[in-house]
Amino acid sequence: MSNYAGHVATPGADELPSGPALTAADRCDACGAQAYVRVTVNGSELLFCAHHAKKHHEKLSSIATSWHDETDRLFEDQRA
Ligand SMILES: [Zn+2]
Repeated sequence: MSNYAGHVATPGADELPSGPALTAADRCDACGAQAYVRVTVNGSELLFCAHHAKKHHEKLSSIATSWHDETDRLFEDQRA
């Protein structure tokens, strides 16, 4: 029993829930503000700021296959 692998696999507790994170380079398709929501509809991605995500949610939520919401991050930024 001398098999020292030398590394411990630590599962990332803070890994992102789905897909790559949105960055400051991602812009709302409607107004050009920083995007915090990425919606996938018919295989194409739409980016929205918090305001437009809320505005279009009712219309898009029924046809969207993916709704990646990072608006929580927006409120954290404002609190800091
Ligand atoms: Zn917008």
